[in-house]
Amino acid sequence: MDKVIITAAITGSRITREMTPYIPITPEEITQSAIECWEAGAAIVHIHVRNQKTGLGTQDLDLFRQVVNPLREKTDLVLCLTTSGISGLNLPIDERLVPLELKPELASLDAGSINLGGGVFSNPPEFLDEAAKRMKQYGVKPELEIFDLGMIVTCLRMRDEGKLEEPLHFQFVLGTPWGAPGTPKSFLHIYEHIPKNSTWSTIGIGKTQLPMSMMGLIMGGHIRVGLEDNIYYERGVLAKTNAQFVDRIVRIAREYGRDVASPNEAREILGVRRD
Ligand code: ZN
Repeated sequence: MDKVIITAAITGSRITREMTPYIPITPEEITQSAIECWEAGAAIVHIHVRNQKTGLGTQDLDLFRQVVNPLREKTDLVLCLTTSGISGLNLPIDERLVPLELKPELASLDAGSINLGGGVFSNPPEFLDEAAKRMKQYGVKPELEIFDLGMIVTCLRMRDEGKLEEPLHFQFVLGTPWGAPGTPKSFLHIYEHIPKNSTWSTIGIGKTQLPMSMMGLIMGGHIRVGLEDNIYYERGVLAKTNAQFVDRIVRIAREYGRDVASPNEAREILGVRRD
């Protein structure tokens, strides 16, 4: 089994200070939290930035720079920048794809539309095609976010059409209120549909974070944790930092007997390199 790659999803676009006082909002807070996760054993950080006035996600290039530049200076983290914008607000395609200009190793690509956060998180074919095309231009590997089985079908179709290249890298997002449940049965059903040469990682939303992490661990995949996906460390207890989640997975992985990948080992596993 490969070493396990731990991704930390630092802030997302929609968790507010009212929901948890511990969510990083400013570029400095996001950077600091990412550094703590790197020190704890995360190889990848998944980055969103926030509009300082609304507190919600934004695709402002300058704000991304204020996080990306210090992380490149101070760490060897693999960077995965979001192209979601704010799920449900459905920003224009060009605006969503702005972070690609910073040439991260990875960028998220939500492989289809889904109900989310009280609205539709719209990822129509024209977005998928343009995102895939531009990621290829910038030398960015798509992290294919899969909320439901049909999104795998979509990715395989795009591969057949030459829009995505193998080996594909999937991120299963299970346990959203309107998508595939975060259960072992649901996980296995989706997992069985990906090409054997793919790499993959699991996200469990909310209380499914830990169980889906365990599926990633035992099935030879990789794991994403962090406040974007889950704000509770345990039932009724808010997590105070992202690094707490990383610490826990590192401990469990070591006890289980699976080593944790360094950022450079993660690059090798995923076939990406620092620009
Ligand atoms: Zn995200």
